[in-house]
Amino acid sequence: MFDLTLTEEQEALIKTARDFARSEIAPVAGHLDEEGKFPQEILTKAFQTGLLNFEVPEAYGGLGLSCLTHSLILEEIAWACCGVNTTLAANMLGAMPLIIAGNEAQKKKYLSSLTAGKNGEPVFCAYACSEPDAGSDVAGMRTKVEKKGDGYVLNGQKRWITNGGVATWFTTFGTFDPKLKHKGITAFVVDAASPGVKIGKKENKMGQRASMTSDIVYEDVFVPKENLIGEEGAGFKVAMKTFDRSRPWIAAGAAGIIKRSLDECRAYSLERKAFGVPIAQHQAVQFMLAEMAIAYETTRLLCMKASWMVDQGKLDSIVSAYAKAYGADAAMRVTTDAVQIFGGYGYTKEYPVEKLMRDAKLLQIYEGTSQIQRMVIAKNLLSQEK
Ligand SMILES: Cc1cc2nc3c(=O)[nH]c(=O)nc-3n(C[C@H](O)[C@H](O)[C@H](O)COP(=O)(O)OP(=O)(O)OC[C@H]3O[C@@H](n4cnc5c(N)ncnc54)[C@H](O)[C@@H]3O)c2cc1C
Repeated sequence: MFDLTLTEEQEALIKTARDFARSEIAPVAGHLDEEGKFPQEILTKAFQTGLLNFEVPEAYGGLGLSCLTHSLILEEIAWACCGVNTTLAANMLGAMPLIIAGNEAQKKKYLSSLTAGKNGEPVFCAYACSEPDAGSDVAGMRTKVEKKGDGYVLNGQKRWITNGGVATWFTTFGTFDPKLKHKGITAFVVDAASPGVKIGKKENKMGQRASMTSDIVYEDVFVPKENLIGEEGAGFKVAMKTFDRSRPWIAAGAAGIIKRSLDECRAYSLERKAFGVPIAQHQAVQFMLAEMAIAYETTRLLCMKASWMVDQGKLDSIVSAYAKAYGADAAMRVTTDAVQIFGGYGYTKEYPVEKLMRDAKLLQIYEGTSQIQRMVIAKNLLSQEK
């Protein structure tokens, strides 16, 4: 039965995340955004508080949290800054292919490295799938894999990789032959310090500027055979399963952005006067607030359902896609209205709503665009038996 009651442990973890987000992140979020600054100090504190690597199993030193608890924590972080939220989630995204398909030795080495950290500092990883000419079209990737000696050699370029510039290892994908499409794709874990790995410049982004996004270039990078994840040719399935697992987190980020928009707009509309009364008394403004509240409830419920299904072992691509598609589009709509409610002030950097709008846009793009979610939904709908 789908039960919305949270346990005491979940409530406590959410409170820890909320307190952390409001005291450590929210006060500096504008500055991080303005400077496009990677929030190293915040991430160190988050790591030390246990707010990183949420779903890494206890066997590898993690908290082994459920997807639902993880999502509810991410919502709190995104309320304060979705760029920080993306950075935290990216570590779990990088770890997920190993959780899904890694062997014991790989999990022990790489997942434990995340939870152990280094001298009290967090260790980062990244999920390196997208390429300059293959984002939505994952099966169109061109990073070339060749067998060599006791392993493989990778040549190619990955683009838009969150945490790419700070990661000590990546879960990544290449193909034995681009003509094989999805059947040729193979997953690996690659040490960032391997000879031939080069990190490109940090992207100067529209939003979520506290997150770090870079290219990763592989030039004759040797990957030992023990770093093959799963089987040769099974990488496409690993990539798709990872997205099914991670899409509820994006919906959680959307819920955080929507809730922040609603909170900011509620407070502002009760204070700001036009035509002699607070703008909250104008029905047109009330309706925008009401739509925001509906969007929050709906996004949160879909996120919780998708996360709960993951936890029940009933992972369903269509439900993850509902949550991601709905949440991302709702966040974009709500943040656009948030700027509207703030009027001219909303269009300036003096108030937080323009940042919310820029941050929300990314939710419709990464981890499968809003169009790709609809393709996933339609494909699943049409293949279902009556
Ligand atoms: C800030 C940021 C962080 C990211 N982080 C990561 C990361 O950590 N790891 C990683 O691997 N990737 C990451 N990505 C990449 C992201 O997943 C891709 O950008 C995304 O999948 C879209 O791919 P694309 O940019 O190549 O766009 P394209 O695939 O070129 O799409 C362009 C447009 O065409 C539409 N389109 C494409 N194909 C179809 C179709 N068949 N039907 C209908 N419409 C279609 C798309 O919806 C989109 O509107 C990140 C991207 C950004 C911007």
